[in-house]
Amino acid sequence: MKRVTPHMARVTFDAGDLAGSIGGEPDQQVKLYFPKPGQAVPRLPEPGGDFMRWYEAFNAIPEDERPWMRSFTIRAVDRERKTVDIDFVLHGDAGPAARWAESARPSDVLGMFGPSAMFARPVPLSAAIAASDWLLLAGDQAALPAIGTLIESLPEGYPAVACVEVGDAAEEQSFTTRGRVSVRWVHRGQVPPGHGEGLLDAVRRAEFPSGRVFAWLAGEAGTVRALRRHLVGDRGVDKRSIDFTGYWRLKLTQDDAPTQEDLTDAGELVERARELTAEAHAQDNG
Ligand SMILES: Cc1cc2nc3c(=O)[nH]c(=O)nc-3n(C[C@H](O)[C@H](O)[C@H](O)COP(=O)(O)OP(=O)(O)OC[C@H]3O[C@@H](n4cnc5c(N)ncnc54)[C@H](O)[C@@H]3O)c2cc1C
Repeated sequence: MKRVTPHMARVTFDAGDLAGSIGGEPDQQVKLYFPKPGQAVPRLPEPGGDFMRWYEAFNAIPEDERPWMRSFTIRAVDRERKTVDIDFVLHGDAGPAARWAESARPSDVLGMFGPSAMFARPVPLSAAIAASDWLLLAGDQAALPAIGTLIESLPEGYPAVACVEVGDAAEEQSFTTRGRVSVRWVHRGQVPPGHGEGLLDAVRRAEFPSGRVFAWLAGEAGTVRALRRHLVGDRGVDKRSIDFTGYWRLKLTQDDAPTQEDLTDAGELVERARELTAEAHAQDNG
């Protein structure tokens, strides 16, 4: 484990043969399973079979033994060394994932599901880029691992504007890219309150390049909604050109039930996936 910045820990996992099956695409999400107190290794059902059966078996584990499940992004894969890097925001000791990363030691074990087609983005980045003139990336520190992979995968000379909210200047990172990327860092200061306001303000003030934009948004769910409203309502961006994910929720854990707004977002994403599938069928048939 190493600290990329004071509040970002990079954990390199020995992933065995799994590493060979992970492609090099950007923004690949996985579910990680963290052991409950008293367990050295998270208790998981046997792998194999279809995911729904596996998930039923997972949910049948008594709650005090069932691992905490959290979403993360593959930051890097090394197929020769069979390792996977994941970057964890150290946001305090309120959550099991951040707590685990704060004190991770060699030989600690987590479970991992994915990357999986089940989590695939409705529009793969390569297709989104091909259909657009430039890319807008906006997110907070939890989105930084994904934003890093997206920036690093841009084609030669492709324009991108990234607005990223972090605690302070010490949390900024640098990326290697073939794209033409301008990164605007927003420093949050005190947390909370103030989560997301700086990011929203930075995107509102940003001068957009001309041409068709594809926007990728992730971070605190309320902020992501506000960013979307701004892009659609004030900037006239087509909803279908926005990929958005609420990564975490203020004052709620990933175990808490979805709010009405979360359900509305999920409904829109399902509807969107249906439209894209229908469009793809229409193209194939015609
Ligand atoms: C697709 C996807 C990919 C993601 N990739 C990454 C990644 O690569 N790296 C990463 O660090 N996170 C990532 N996240 C976000 C991560 O899953 C959440 O932050 C998660 O809630 C962390 O779990 P926890 O156990 O630490 O906190 P939880 O138990 O879920 O929450 C405990 C408390 O901490 C607060 N909290 C949770 N996350 C944050 C945060 N980031 N900043 C401030 N307060 C927070 C909650 O509001 C709550 O009050 C991703 C999320 C998704 C959906």
